Amino acid sequence: MSDGRGRRSGQRAWNTGPVRVCVFCGSSSGFEPMYRDAAIELGRLLVTHGHSLVYGGGRVGLMGALADAVLAAGGEVIGVIPSQLVEREVAHTALTELRVRGSMHERKADMVALADAFVALPGGYGTFDELFEVLTWLQLGIHAKPVVIVDVGAFFASLFALADGAVAAGFLKQSHRDAARRVETVAEAIAMLDAPPPSPESKWIGDRPVP
Ligand code: AMP
Repeated sequence: MSDGRGRRSGQRAWNTGPVRVCVFCGSSSGFEPMYRDAAIELGRLLVTHGHSLVYGGGRVGLMGALADAVLAAGGEVIGVIPSQLVEREVAHTALTELRVRGSMHERKADMVALADAFVALPGGYGTFDELFEVLTWLQLGIHAKPVVIVDVGAFFASLFALADGAVAAGFLKQSHRDAARRVETVAEAIAMLDAPPPSPESKWIGDRPVP
């Protein structure tokens, strides 16, 4: 069965050209212009490379800047938003497609299913939640898609320090910590999308729960 992009369902996308990239980023813009600049550059580069965008469907903050940049460059944007947020009038109304879902859980599952790869830009709790969820699902083998973190202005330094602390304390495998791929620029993030993620390793350290 084809997915309409010349790929059979379940087939890996690496090095096969255009992919759907799910981006997690702030619904605020941050105080420094570099955050918004990075979102806009990511939007433009996605289109240059023929990729399409999947994101949370909002029109505010970095999310709005990113979606507008993709649309302005002639690219495709699928927004996936819970009805609760549409009602608060923050949904972007000019997207290629806006999928309205009943809950945050349905929305996140949909974004994961639609995407071939994930990119995180700076953001707040919403961004952290989405990022940690796709990393958790990667280490459990629920998906096997690249997860790239754009460390704009070293924004994510404390997050990587937290993960390193979890490795040192025996709660996280080094390979799973490394699955969160850190890059400094949006251009590096685009290049990373072609690299397959590391092969899944068992999640558990030491005593493994009986399935
Ligand atoms: P935050 O980082 O807390 O600003 O939250 C951003 C992330 O949470 C995005 O990647 C979205 O998926 C989701 N989110 C937060 N606010 C909105 C909104 N107004 N519209 C759509 N999604 C949102």
